[in-house]
Amino acid sequence: MTEAPLKALEKIGLHSTKPVHYQLTPAELTEQTVQRKEGVLNDTGALLINTGEFTGRSPKDKFTVKDEITANTVHWNDFNIPLEPKYFDQMHEKLVNYLNTKELWVRDCYACADPAYRLNIRVTNENPWSNLFAYNMFLRPTEDELENFTPEWHIIQAPGFKADPAVDGTRQHNFAMVSFTKKMILIGGTGYTGEMKKGIFTILNYILPQNKNVLSMHCSANMGKAGDTAIFFGLSGTGKTTLSADPNRSLIGDDEHGWTDHGVFNFEGGCYAKTIDLSAEKEPEIYNAIKPGALVENVTFIDGTNKIDFSSKIITENTRVSYPLSFISNALEPSVGKMPKNIFFLTADAYGILPPVSKLTPGQAMYQFISGYTAKVAGTEAGVTEPKSTFSACFGAPFLPLHPGQYAEMLGKKMTMHNVNVWMINTGWSGGPYGVGSRMKLPYTRAMITAALEGKLDNVEFEAHPVFGMMMPKECPGVPTEVLNPRNTWTDKAAYDTKAKDLAQQFIKNFEKYASGVTAEILAAAPKI
Ligand code: ATP
Ligand code: MN
Repeated sequence: MTEAPLKALEKIGLHSTKPVHYQLTPAELTEQTVQRKEGVLNDTGALLINTGEFTGRSPKDKFTVKDEITANTVHWNDFNIPLEPKYFDQMHEKLVNYLNTKELWVRDCYACADPAYRLNIRVTNENPWSNLFAYNMFLRPTEDELENFTPEWHIIQAPGFKADPAVDGTRQHNFAMVSFTKKMILIGGTGYTGEMKKGIFTILNYILPQNKNVLSMHCSANMGKAGDTAIFFGLSGTGKTTLSADPNRSLIGDDEHGWTDHGVFNFEGGCYAKTIDLSAEKEPEIYNAIKPGALVENVTFIDGTNKIDFSSKIITENTRVSYPLSFISNALEPSVGKMPKNIFFLTADAYGILPPVSKLTPGQAMYQFISGYTAKVAGTEAGVTEPKSTFSACFGAPFLPLHPGQYAEMLGKKMTMHNVNVWMINTGWSGGPYGVGSRMKLPYTRAMITAALEGKLDNVEFEAHPVFGMMMPKECPGVPTEVLNPRNTWTDKAAYDTKAKDLAQQFIKNFEKYASGVTAEILAAAPKI
C-alpha cells in the first residue's frame, strides 16, 4: 500500500501489524477468498460465500449518533435509533484495536454517478469477499482519480467483532452505527454485505435532499431509446431489480437513485439481485451475470455438482448476487438518465386485491407514495398462510433519516412540474390471496410495463377500482383481459369484496399519522369503504 492511502487509514486509527491489501482486483480477491477457504467457485466461475449468522439486514441493530448535527434533523423512529456519541467513539476504538491485529482489505470507491454529487468512500474490511462486494456495488475510480483520492466517508466493517450490549449501547452483538459528525459507518458482528450498501444509501438520503436539493429514492431506473426514463419504486421483493433489467431499455440502476433538476442518477456501481428461483428463461440478464467477478451469497450446490441450486432455501430465502453494472449488457455508463416520464410503484400484494396495472392521479400517487404498501407472504413456518401487510413510507422507511413528508413533498413537486405518468403495478397475487391464487406471471407484468411505457394504454378504456379508486385498463397488449380486474380472477367475489375492504381499512389506519400534514387532494385519494 502506498503512503497516501496509508496515512488516511492512520487518521482513523488503523495501523495493522498484518498485511493491508489496497485496491485488489476482483480476480485477486476471489483467489484469496478461495485460498482462505472462505468461498468456492461455481461452474461459471462466480465466487460463492456464506455471510454467516446474518443473511439479511438487521434494522433493529442500526444506530444513528444523536448529536448536534442530527438531534433536530433526523426523524427518530424505529429505523432511526439514537445512539449517544460516547458509544460510537468507544466502538470506533474497540473496532480499530480489533482490526489492527488482522490482515485488512481496503478499497477507495465512491457513490453517485453524477460528478456534481460524488461522495468518496473508503471501505476497510476484515476479509477479501466483503471487499469484493464494495468493488461490485460502489463506483470504481480510475487510476488517475486514485492518485489524489481523499476519502470523505469511511466504512469500517468487521463481521468477526462482537459487541457487548452491556457496555456498548447496542441491542445485541451485531450493529451498524452511523455518525454524520465523524462521517463514518461502523459495522460489526454481521457479515451481511447489504449493511454496507444500505448504510451509504442512508447517509445519502440525509445529505442529498437536505443539502443538495436532490430527491433520493429507493427505486430502480432505466431509459428507453428515446431518452424516456422510467423509475420503479418498491419495497424489498417487489421487482425493482427484476423489472429494471429490460433488454429493450438501458439500465441506469437497480436500487438507489437521485432526481436532480436535470434527470436521474444512480448512487451505485452495481446490482444486488435476488437469486431465489432464478432461471435463464425468466431472467436471462441476471442469470448471465453470474460469472467471474460476481459474488453469490448463501446459495448451495446441486448435490454432487458445482452448479448452484437456485431453488434451495436451505440457508435463506434471501440468496443474492452482486455484480458491477457492466455485467448487464445494456447498462448505461455513466449511469445518468434524463428526466423521468413514467413512475411505477411496485407492490407485491399477497392478498391479491390490488390490480396488476393501474393509473394513478397525482393525489392517488402521493397517497400511495406516503403509504408505501406491500404485503409479504407468510414465513416459511408450516400452517401460517395469512399474508402480512407492510406500510413503509416512501417505499423505503428503513433507509430514510428525514421525515417522510420531506421526500414526499419533493416528489410531488417534481411529478407535477414534469408531468410524469404514475402507475401502480401489483407484482403479487392474482386469483385469490397467497395459498389460493398465484403470483402474477412475470411475462405479464413485463408486458403491462412495456404497454405503459410505449403509450399502448393511452387510448384504451379504463374503469375505477371500486374501493381503491385507481384506474384499471380494460385491455393491455400481451396480457389476458381477465387478469386486469383482480375481482374477476377470484372465484369467490364476496370474499374479494370483504378482503378489499379489510385492506382499505389497513391503509386508512396507517395513514392516520400523516393525515394532518397532507393536502385535501391527497386525503381525498384514500380508499373508500
Ligand atoms: P430488494 O429491494 O430487496 O433488492 P427488489 O424490489 O429489487 O428487492 P427483486 O430482486 O426484483 O426485488 O425481486 C422480485 C422477485 O420476485 C424475483 O425473485 C422475481 O423473479 C420474482 N417475481 C415473480 N413474479 C414476479 C412478477 N410478476 N414481477 C416481478 N417479480 C416477480
Ligand atoms: Mn433489488
